[in-house]
Order: sequence, then structure tokens, then C-alpha cells
Amino acid sequence: MQEKQYTVALSIAGSDSGGGAGIQADIKTMSALGVFATTAITAVTAQNTCGVRLVQAMPPEVVRAQIEAVLEDMSVRAIKIGMLFSTPIIEAVAAALKPYAAEIPIVLDPVMIAQSGDPLIREEAIEAMKALLFPLTTLITPNLPEFAALLGEAFDEEQPSHSMEAWLQWGAKAVLIKGGHSHDTSRVIDYLLLTEQQQVQRFESPRIATTNTHGTGCTLSSAIAAFLAYGYDTIEAVRRAKEYLTQALKQGAERRLGKGAGPVHH
Ligand code: PLP
Repeated sequence: MQEKQYTVALSIAGSDSGGGAGIQADIKTMSALGVFATTAITAVTAQNTCGVRLVQAMPPEVVRAQIEAVLEDMSVRAIKIGMLFSTPIIEAVAAALKPYAAEIPIVLDPVMIAQSGDPLIREEAIEAMKALLFPLTTLITPNLPEFAALLGEAFDEEQPSHSMEAWLQWGAKAVLIKGGHSHDTSRVIDYLLLTEQQQVQRFESPRIATTNTHGTGCTLSSAIAAFLAYGYDTIEAVRRAKEYLTQALKQGAERRLGKGAGPVHH
């Protein structure tokens, strides 16, 4: 009998009890795309569609042990990093990933504040994320507010390549600036900066009119990781992941769950 291999990805992220974002969104996305999802939980959140009630960070050694247990046993083809919460957790993730970063593509979603307005990282941990994790990543996926917080200035759509040098100096090979928070009501434009090649790629998709957007960032970054796991290059992985997210938003647009912002549908 011929053996069939799994295509495996690892999500390092926080748990969302409401099932819409975080680890839960990552597992749903990767599974929908045929990728076997493994996980390392960084924090447990008690949340629903209305907001985050409580965050309990995992002990850093527990985060590290989860990552090492998976990576030492399975052939992981791509890694997605989401909510990190604190400097000690970032240090643990960096230490665990360092031996693998040259071989395995890593997508970092620099999660800071939930759509509900609740903080998902401690302010002082942002510098640690830049210093310890940016150099290990294949792609970083900030939305517009995250871009501004990281760079100290707003993204200039007239000159998308303006910030390329800064990102390159931080060790970022590629940055996807997600336009979902822009005021354009008809379309969403994302820019992919391939810093080493000094290249900019523009992606345009229709804006789906829905309030069911909880977990969009998690869904996109784990879909990109899934397509990288299949061996697509960064540009093609982003293109396919955006297509997946647009379809998921369309399919979930008319659904209702909870009293707040509903989840992306998988
Ligand atoms: N909760 C967890 C655990 C997350 O990782 C994230 C986003 O990454 C969120 C909540 C926020 O999701 P959203 O901003 O889409 O509501």
C-alpha cells in the first residue's frame, strides 16, 4: 500500500473561546485548505463576538515545549505566528524557532489590538517582537494601524515602497500591508513589499459588505502559511490566500452569530 503524506503547518497563536479568531481560525483555515494543522498555544482568551474578557498567558516554557514537540517529530512545511502577548513568550518562540527558520517559511501576523479594541500584546513586547522575530520571518502581515505602530508613521499609499529600507534593516524579507482598515468602501488594496528584491506587488479585491470580520487577519495569515506549505512562492501564496479570504467573507456575509462582530465563515 502506498503511503500518503500530510502537508503539515504549525500555528503559534492565542486561543479564542468564541471560535472566530486565533488558533481556532487557524485550524479551520488550514483544514479547509487541506493542510494538517498543529498548534502551540501562547495565551488563552475568554472572548466572544463582543470582545475579550480575560487573557491568560501561557508560561513561556510551555510555549517553547509545544513548538519543539511538534517540530522535532513532524515535517512542518510552514509556520504561522499570531498573538504573542509578552516579551518572555516572544523570547521562547524565537529560541524554539531559531534552528528551523532557515528551512521553514514563517508568516508573522503582528497582532496588537482586537477589532473589539482589546489589547492582545503588551506595549513593551513590540520591540522584542521586532528584534527577535522579524529576522526569522519570511513574511510579516501588518494591517494599517499595526503598520503605523511599528513604523511610527502611517503607510503612504502614493509611495508604497517608501518604508522598504526600514523593514529591510529590521530583517524583514517581505511585508504585506493589508488595506482592510482603509476608508475605501468598494475595494481593499494590499501591498506586498519584497524587501530583498526591492519589489512591490499590489493586490486588489472587492470589499465585502459585512460586519462578520472577526478573525480576518488570522485567516489570511494562516491561509498564506498553508499555501507556502504547499510550496508556492510568497506572491502566489498571498494571491491565493486573499482569494480564499474573499470567498470566506462572501459566504459568511449573511450569517448571524452572537451579539457582536461575527466570524469569518470557513
Ligand atoms: N483573539 C485572538 C486570540 C487573536 O489571535 C486575534 C487576532 O489575531 C483576535 C482575537 C482578534 O481578532 P479580530 O481583530 O479579527 O477580532
